[in-house]
Amino acid sequence: MTDSYELDGVRPSRVERPGSVDDLSATLKKVHEDAQAAVIWGGGTRMHVGNSVTRYDVAVDVTGLDRVVDYRPSDLVVVVEAGITVAALQEELGKNNQRLAFDPPAPEKATIGGSLASNAVGPLRNSYGGVRDLVIGMSVVLADGTLTKSGGSVVKNVAGYDMARLHIGAFGTLGAIATVAFKIGPLPPARRTVAAWFDSVESAAVAGMRIINGAFMPEAITVIAGPRAAAHASDIAIRTTGDAPENSRGNAPGTAVLLLVALAASPATVERQVNDTTSTMGGAMADGFAVLDGDQQEAAWALAGEPDPSPALTVRSTLKPASAFDLVDTLAGAVGPNDIHIVGHVGFGTVEAHWTADAASVPGLIESARTAVTDAGGAFSIERCPVGLKPGLDVFGKIGAPLEIMRRMKQQFDPDGTLSPGRFAGRI
Ligand SMILES: Cc1cc2nc3c(=O)[nH]c(=O)nc-3n(C[C@H](O)[C@H](O)[C@H](O)COP(=O)(O)OP(=O)(O)OC[C@H]3O[C@@H](n4cnc5c(N)ncnc54)[C@H](O)[C@@H]3O)c2cc1C
Repeated sequence: MTDSYELDGVRPSRVERPGSVDDLSATLKKVHEDAQAAVIWGGGTRMHVGNSVTRYDVAVDVTGLDRVVDYRPSDLVVVVEAGITVAALQEELGKNNQRLAFDPPAPEKATIGGSLASNAVGPLRNSYGGVRDLVIGMSVVLADGTLTKSGGSVVKNVAGYDMARLHIGAFGTLGAIATVAFKIGPLPPARRTVAAWFDSVESAAVAGMRIINGAFMPEAITVIAGPRAAAHASDIAIRTTGDAPENSRGNAPGTAVLLLVALAASPATVERQVNDTTSTMGGAMADGFAVLDGDQQEAAWALAGEPDPSPALTVRSTLKPASAFDLVDTLAGAVGPNDIHIVGHVGFGTVEAHWTADAASVPGLIESARTAVTDAGGAFSIERCPVGLKPGLDVFGKIGAPLEIMRRMKQQFDPDGTLSPGRFAGRI
């Protein structure tokens, strides 16, 4: 029963599944009183991110906290429990033609709490900002079971320190997110995606930068490189033209690079933006392009997630958007064409690279990726790697001066190391 809560090879001695915020408080209060250590679990899709915990007695699965607590469509506000999945929330909001402008991969498994705690990223960040910009309030259960609240459930926010933000990206090391209040918005009346394929990242960059610097901001723009992208480009080409992509430089079809541009607005505006975007693609030496909607559109954007089966190594880098294409190009060039899947959110400068490789070659890949990211002026972190490498690494990379403040915050919020001890940067 505990094996599905194994973390880096360590199993907890028991699993707790609180069904309410009060239960969650009582659970953590007991764990704390017993001087034990707990790890908070949401959908479990990103539990591989983090340093190995130093103690692990109890898995606290919060997926039972999955209710919509308050939803006021006319105020554009929704308050949910943290264990609700992103997909379930979107379904509820969709009944009123509304949505949360946040689209992490695997929404049917990803919980709101886990997505916030692990600072998950989705393509919509390009036009709506990070998920932290959509949060207007939060309640958190601290390590000793105390329930705290910050912010509110009105879009015009209340005074006081914005404590909610502390827990976003903290991987459950300062507290368990219990409820979250979000500002939401209308579903766009129309949404289409222009998918274009190129024979190199370089030529995709020409088109991409013209669109980013163009007359309108696409809802999302992402470049995807690697065999999955090439195979998908081939599928689209065959479906729309009857022929596989012909590369202008005669490169093997398997090396096509995909550029996805999502356009969302009124039908007339989307029509005009589609025309502008396809003419840009044509002018920028695209080997081909197609306009997607419905399932085809969703299938293309699903490529923005981590490959399945899980890769041996995943690194994430955040850098200046203008440098994102170059980094994708460097990473793509650093290894054989078939071993890598790269997702470049070029509009906001987040690049995720996933390697399929044997464990022995991973340390070398980490170093070449770290060099490429550092040379591109980016911040580097390891999201997934063989567990055996973790004792010798800090997967969050170099934090520098802020680390001391982070240590003091942990000391303040969780002095006894009840929550995921050793998991965060600097093994906090
Ligand atoms: C096939 C696949 C591909 C994916 N690709 C990507 C990708 O490319 N990029 C990406 O960013 N994500 C990716 N994801 C992960 C997924 O989209 C999100 O990251 C997801 O948001 C994580 O939510 P979760 O509920 O699964 O979190 P979990 O994995 O359960 O938890 C993540 C972290 O948050 C902590 N936590 C969980 N709940 C709480 C809480 N209530 N309070 C405090 N801490 C908490 C956990 O302790 C853990 O440290 C992928 C998932 C799948 C299945």
